[in-house]
Amino acid sequence: MAQRLLMGNEAFAHGALEAGVRVVAGYPGTPSSELIETVAKLHGEGSAHGVHVEWSTNEKAALEVAAGASMAGARVLFTCKQVGLNVASDALLSLAYVGARGGCVLFVADDPGPISSQTEQDTRRFAAFAKVPVLDPSTPEEGFAMMKEAFELSERYGTPVIVRPTTRICHASTFFDVAEETHARPAPAEGFEKDPRWVIFPKRSFEAHGEINERLPRIASDPTFTRFTVVEEVPGEGERPTVAIVACGVSAAYGREALAALQRRAAEEGMELPPYRFIAVGSPYPFPADLMEQELEGIERVIVFEELDPVVEEELLKLAGARHLPYAVLGKLTGDAPDRGENASDVIRECLLRFFATESPDLASWAAALQPETLRFEGPLPVRPPVLCAGCPHRGSFYAVKRALKELSKQAERAGEPAVQAVLCGDIGCYTLGNAAPLDAVDTCLCMGAGITMAQGLAVVEPQKKHVAFVGDSTFFASALTGIANAVYNGHDVTFAILDNATTAMTGSQPHPGTGLTLMGERRAPIVIEGVLEALGVERIRIVDPLDTDASIEAARDCLAFAGPAAIIFRSPCIQIVAPEEPLSIDPVTCTGCKRCITQIGCPAIGFDGTVAFIDASLCVGCGLCVPVCPFGVIGAVGDGKGESA
Ligand code: SF4
Ligand code: SF4
Repeated sequence: MAQRLLMGNEAFAHGALEAGVRVVAGYPGTPSSELIETVAKLHGEGSAHGVHVEWSTNEKAALEVAAGASMAGARVLFTCKQVGLNVASDALLSLAYVGARGGCVLFVADDPGPISSQTEQDTRRFAAFAKVPVLDPSTPEEGFAMMKEAFELSERYGTPVIVRPTTRICHASTFFDVAEETHARPAPAEGFEKDPRWVIFPKRSFEAHGEINERLPRIASDPTFTRFTVVEEVPGEGERPTVAIVACGVSAAYGREALAALQRRAAEEGMELPPYRFIAVGSPYPFPADLMEQELEGIERVIVFEELDPVVEEELLKLAGARHLPYAVLGKLTGDAPDRGENASDVIRECLLRFFATESPDLASWAAALQPETLRFEGPLPVRPPVLCAGCPHRGSFYAVKRALKELSKQAERAGEPAVQAVLCGDIGCYTLGNAAPLDAVDTCLCMGAGITMAQGLAVVEPQKKHVAFVGDSTFFASALTGIANAVYNGHDVTFAILDNATTAMTGSQPHPGTGLTLMGERRAPIVIEGVLEALGVERIRIVDPLDTDASIEAARDCLAFAGPAAIIFRSPCIQIVAPEEPLSIDPVTCTGCKRCITQIGCPAIGFDGTVAFIDASLCVGCGLCVPVCPFGVIGAVGDGKGESA
């Protein structure tokens, strides 16, 4: 064993490897991605023996890879972020019925806030919908222990098991004792065995549903599951508390912190908090009802802290109703806890102050005087919207499409026709940032691959407009192919703008089928996007470098004018994976201060000093996109007669 400082996600990878995981498959998504990357890194370093790890083309593919390997008896791990589980849900709901043979663990990271997601959905709800047990760690250490236990539970009950951390658990770091080498547990020698349960026919589903309903109550009272629901009684030894604080997942850590701060503050004032019971729920589904009934005996009021949905709060209400328990439940539903976003210890402290204040008049006056010691900045904060990186090739793609639309519009007006109107459908990735001014090139964004098909629906209803769907290269393989086939099959008049930057940039530059590089470090023949488009029957395909403005505008004009589905592949690597060129500069003597370079492309490397524009050399990567944008030709390399007097 060795002691290492690890991020939660890195530790969970170690936990799974120590449990003997044989197959790991997932799709990148913040805050989950580091787990699978850690498995790949440890495999690449030679310390994780016998494991297969892959980025699958999407979450559904990943879960199905894992399901197959589990049926052969191997321990498997699937990873994704919360919205990724939507993509895998078709497989998940059936997998709960079909069941697992080798331990089957689904690591699904939720994103309260949300910090980098479309939704604030709660995977505990999904677990209940799919009738699959879920563990919810309050600390990275607990998550590490849960990863190991989840494989055991999965095999004992023949069910997939979800481990659902939230962002702060995934990304917090602490010290762990981890094995220096791990070995995947070999699958049983007999291998995959034919069994009617692997085939989900209606008759078998009916039986399986009964088996699920029978095993869930057993899991809910299994000590290896309920050991993650921890009861602490403090303070006032021997006194029976009448209030309880129940917290789930990371909120339990915040709750402990908030209570410790309140106790310290009360002691300074020579006071004591009322006795209370603190229950950290780490096994929210199936809800450990018997344990909770036992621990809530004598309790009159319960306050619940949890991020996202009021899952535990509703379970406690159900329990009170079903078993006629006399406690009142406070939380999100009563307005006593925040109904959305992340919790934090100071937020919980304020809620607890109000909660305790109703317990005693002494505490009411004390609570009223006590303000949480948060640092607050009173002045105006600078507005800093997220933007595409300086030199991002996507900027050139958006610019070219908008310029082409403008030119087509002028052409139409010259011919006495109405100006061209367009709807620009975006998608999930860095390029969603194309919606920001001045590009203003994303009118819709729904979910992975949706822009491709939404554009088709829009085109049916508003055929007089142009419809462009922007999609990244990784999303192209993950979720766009069926939509493109739909456009060809149904003859929809749309233009696909495929932004091929040779990586999955948004989530940390992971490879994908178009790169040819696998997570195991092998090189395969890349799947060529234009080849796929041709095979799907797209008749007009143009490939351009988005940093070549004239060629890009001409290609965009050509595809927009084509009747039927057409595709422009804007191909230029992400600036994160190539070395930068020398920065450019602006001649301050000849710059007119017209700001066109700023208002047309919005590169964050270009600033304005009140009179003239300037380029911040520490940000500029020398992509050259701004050069043709300047109508006065004053942007260039130092030494080329344009930028040198800067
Ligand atoms: S060359 Fe121009 S557009 Fe490219 S990064 Fe530098 S300032 Fe930005
Ligand atoms: S477009 Fe050219 S002239 Fe106008 S502000 Fe920018 S660098 Fe100066």
